Amino acid sequence: LARDFATLPDLIATHARDLGAKTAVADEDGSISYADLDAAMDRIAAALQRDGIAPGAAIAIVAAPSIDYAIVFLGALRAGGVAAPIAPSATPASIAAIIADCGAPIVFVDAANAAALAGQDIAARIVEFDRTFADWIAPEGATPAAVAIDPADGFNIIYSSGTTGTPKGIIQSHAMRWSHISRNAAAGFGEAVTMIATPLYSNTTLVSFLPTLGWGGTVVLMKKFDAHRYLALAERHRATHTMLVPVQYQRIMALADFDTFALSSFRLKTSTSAPFSAALKADVLKRWPGVLIEYYGMTEGGASTGLNATEHPDKLHTVGVPLPGHEMRLIDDDGNEVTPGEMGEVVGRGPTMMTGYHGRAEATRDAEWHDADGNRYIRHGDVGRFDDDGFLILMDRKKDLIISGGFNIYPTDLESVLAGHEAVGDCAVVGVPSEAWGETPAGFYVVRPGFEHEDAGAIMAWANARLGKTQRLAQLHRIDEMPRSAIGKILKRELRDSLAGMVA
Ligand code: ATP
Ligand code: MG
Repeated sequence: LARDFATLPDLIATHARDLGAKTAVADEDGSISYADLDAAMDRIAAALQRDGIAPGAAIAIVAAPSIDYAIVFLGALRAGGVAAPIAPSATPASIAAIIADCGAPIVFVDAANAAALAGQDIAARIVEFDRTFADWIAPEGATPAAVAIDPADGFNIIYSSGTTGTPKGIIQSHAMRWSHISRNAAAGFGEAVTMIATPLYSNTTLVSFLPTLGWGGTVVLMKKFDAHRYLALAERHRATHTMLVPVQYQRIMALADFDTFALSSFRLKTSTSAPFSAALKADVLKRWPGVLIEYYGMTEGGASTGLNATEHPDKLHTVGVPLPGHEMRLIDDDGNEVTPGEMGEVVGRGPTMMTGYHGRAEATRDAEWHDADGNRYIRHGDVGRFDDDGFLILMDRKKDLIISGGFNIYPTDLESVLAGHEAVGDCAVVGVPSEAWGETPAGFYVVRPGFEHEDAGAIMAWANARLGKTQRLAQLHRIDEMPRSAIGKILKRELRDSLAGMVA
């Protein structure tokens, strides 16, 4: 891959020639070789061309991860299409809105999503895996007309997680994806067996899925994550690489029989998308073979950082340093850069930066920041500070900061104290309106099994004794389950809503 640019479909064609029968993608039901994947991509591209779907069109997919999902995603690229993987976890109405927003003329669904979307008014043609798909796809041996792909052409459109509001479409170009693939030259993806247990509509997943295929490795997909099945599958496939979100690490490490699984084949484990506690990183380092790297970044691709936890066990409380070619700065509320060592909002620029939100000029302008030389940066909406060695200590999303009596309260500070109580499992802190203070912190926790007798009031007193006077929790609620998005992010919005109307 010592070249300036290649498209993923072309790389896969090369692997089909050079690696032929090697497994490209496996799921829990079967597998497909590079030769067969390449032929299937041709059949998809030919069918899209037969249907008159022009290069540049969005090809929507609403389904759980599977081999069919992978061939449609990759085949769409070969026809010059823009893959539009959509979260099935969204409501049918918002899925329909996203399909309309990206203008997809065709939508691929699995049975569960076909049923969910049946009542929606969708202008696009619907093709269902395991049903109409076999008739739709071009016959074996079909070859599409060659489509020239430019580095600036759209590769995929991903709708942001919507953790903080309405999902916004973010287009990633072939050049950006090439950057993701080529920068992993030293990561051993060519010999990788990469376990993936997160949904394919998330950038979190694609940053390990795409490099594995780009380098000719093997991807193993799980339709739905389960900690036990994950380990059994990893053992069976002798997995070498994986990308998991922190809550998945948490569930895996909590298994009583974790140490009975043979995991010595692992070389590289990565994580991104949500806070990963230092204690959990330390546990993974200690008990799970292979290097551990945490990435911090956003779908918008302003800039990313990486922490090689194996090399820097003293920096587990950070998310590492900006990746090569990525520039990151911190700004205050007035848009001025903060003095070194101070806290500020992260802004970044780099090779994976989006050009803008699809069809939302105003939201795009709001997301931008320019330095004195006029260089364009993307605002990350996260607050943090750099330590003396240039490692980024991430605090909170700016929208989640609590301003109480004129003081800034960082929910992260309170969460790490709460998490130190033996009865507290998952926990989160949000700001709620207060007559006297503007906002006050409210905590939520899920009780650790065996500690159900512990009373929330006593836990709150314990935590408050360890917090600064201006930081103290005004309320603490025990809940059965932490509300999380399908990619495992805590939905603070839902926690705040659960207290709506309550003014402390
Ligand atoms: P939306 O923008 O629609 O509200 P989202 O911000 O969750 O959703 P993503 O682009 O998937 O959408 O996530 C990026 C965000 O995830 C970052 O801004 C940051 O808040 C969080 N994040 C990513 N990596 C990490 C990490 N390593 N540690 C802590 N938080 C992280
Ligand atoms: Mg975001």
